[in-house]
Amino acid sequence: MIDTHAHLDFPEFDKDREEVIARFFENGGKAIVNIGVDLETSEKSIELAENHEKIFAAVGFHPHRAGEKLSLPTNDDIEELKKLATHKKVKAIGEIGLDYFNYKDPEQIKQQKTLFKKQLKIADEAGLPVVMHCREAWNDLFEMIQSEKNIRFVLHCYSGEKKDTEKFLELPNVCFSFSGNITYPKPIERAEKLAEAVKMIPLERTMLDSDSPFLAPQQARGKRNEPSYVRYIAEKIAEIKEISIEKVEKTTDENANEFFGLD
Ligand SMILES: [Zn+2]
Repeated sequence: MIDTHAHLDFPEFDKDREEVIARFFENGGKAIVNIGVDLETSEKSIELAENHEKIFAAVGFHPHRAGEKLSLPTNDDIEELKKLATHKKVKAIGEIGLDYFNYKDPEQIKQQKTLFKKQLKIADEAGLPVVMHCREAWNDLFEMIQSEKNIRFVLHCYSGEKKDTEKFLELPNVCFSFSGNITYPKPIERAEKLAEAVKMIPLERTMLDSDSPFLAPQQARGKRNEPSYVRYIAEKIAEIKEISIEKVEKTTDENANEFFGLD
């Protein structure tokens, strides 16, 4: 199992970070990609990656960093990000993207797009794939990436509608990762929508994504999430696709290794 999206540097893990990491690798975990949301967390992701052979880092500014309460990253911040992207254990730019669920103000949305665009350029220049966060911004996100043929993308915690899935599947450079929310039985319409997405997306374009410490699967709902629990996501995908869990694990591992270049 490879967890392609964790925030192990977050304070939720301050007390037992090393135990959480050990538990993952003892239980069949192969690798973790730790994801930055700003400069500080990107640096911490690199630090974790330096200390663990099978932890890798993604660096970037989350769209929340274009929020009204936080100042937009400066040109110096962008330059700093560019430098971080050259580190040998940095395997992606992320998480970056658009979030219209939390932010609706047009000026703020404009800032999100500007920030996203600047980071796409960094990814392109560095030859790195991009980990995307998207909430209720599917059309705009699609428009912004559809001409970026040189960059490979993963839609993290994928939750799009059928029409979105159809569109993004047409872009051969886009993969999808699923999180613990696919295990939630309720609300039923959401569960059905996510199951439909899991079914529509070929296993060859699917990855596992814990989003720890958030989005714990149903089996640990309400608790802090951790990378070991990606097993439950793999189980759910196997159940929906009516294939073996071994097949899900093997193929998603291959996908993650290839997408991020982890070997
Ligand atoms: Zn995340």
